Amino acid sequence: MAEMVGAESGELVRAEIDVRVDPLTGHTSRILPNRGLMPPNDFDLEAFAAENQERCPFCPERIDRLTPKLAPAIHPEGRMVQGEAVLFSNLHAYSSHSCVSVYSSRLHYLPLGEITDRLMADNLSTQVHYANAVMAADPDSRWSSINANHMLPSGSSLFHPHLQGIVDPSPTTLQRQLADVPAARFDDYLDTERRSGRRYLCNSGTVQWLVSFAPIAPAELRAFVPGVASPAELNDALIAELAQGLTITLNAYADMGFESFNLAMYGAPPGTAGYPLNLRIACRSNLKPFYRSDSTFLERLHWEGAVDLTPEDVAERIRDRFRT
Ligand SMILES: [Zn+2]
Repeated sequence: MAEMVGAESGELVRAEIDVRVDPLTGHTSRILPNRGLMPPNDFDLEAFAAENQERCPFCPERIDRLTPKLAPAIHPEGRMVQGEAVLFSNLHAYSSHSCVSVYSSRLHYLPLGEITDRLMADNLSTQVHYANAVMAADPDSRWSSINANHMLPSGSSLFHPHLQGIVDPSPTTLQRQLADVPAARFDDYLDTERRSGRRYLCNSGTVQWLVSFAPIAPAELRAFVPGVASPAELNDALIAELAQGLTITLNAYADMGFESFNLAMYGAPPGTAGYPLNLRIACRSNLKPFYRSDSTFLERLHWEGAVDLTPEDVAERIRDRFRT
């Protein structure tokens, strides 16, 4: 509870801050009273897309010439293609092995409401093939993740929508923390959320979807894939199931007025017993001049989420889409 004296009224004002502890990693998160921290998009993304398209290295006229190819030991053809998705090396490496995959070279502008199961599944599929190819060529690199920075506010330096994969001998901080969570704690968390029903969305066959109890970022969803520890172990059926859930989520974000998001699928080494592949997706502030970033001193320097969208409201707004 925070107390202050109102500037005009001179009366004591109280604001309730709900501090929550994530049951898996112990991270804490602050759910703030709604004060409109995440306004809906009112920026003309299509016009901005047209403006920056001329120089885009991922568009059809330039993708072959301007994107780096994969090393021959990983994939002799240099690029992996599935449907419209194309995967290539990341010019700006983040780990031993870094790749970028576009949903489609022709889709320079792809608002979240227009992402489809097919586009998402094909793009995820290239990432899964990449993780497998890297692990076959470099067996020490066993920690893989599939990620997205979508639109500039999320950290993307290029407008053209894409996913990013990294495969490395070492985990990131959260990969390590999640892989250290005992199997029984994942079961407890999912059982508790299913019973409460307030944030639980659905079991889409194998994958369980829910809104985070203690989110790191706004409108955050998590998904868990039991029996699979690494993206490299995903088969076509699981890729399709994950793609469908992600598409539902992104289409819902679009309806809620959001156009930028981050995604992470945190792999542990293949075969890690008791670790369900963890996925987290959250929206980010909308792009516009002089926008407010949703990432503040709390998120960046305290590693503490602070959001004014309550997880229960987010679940309320998204749940029906998962159940139809
Ligand atoms: Zn482009």
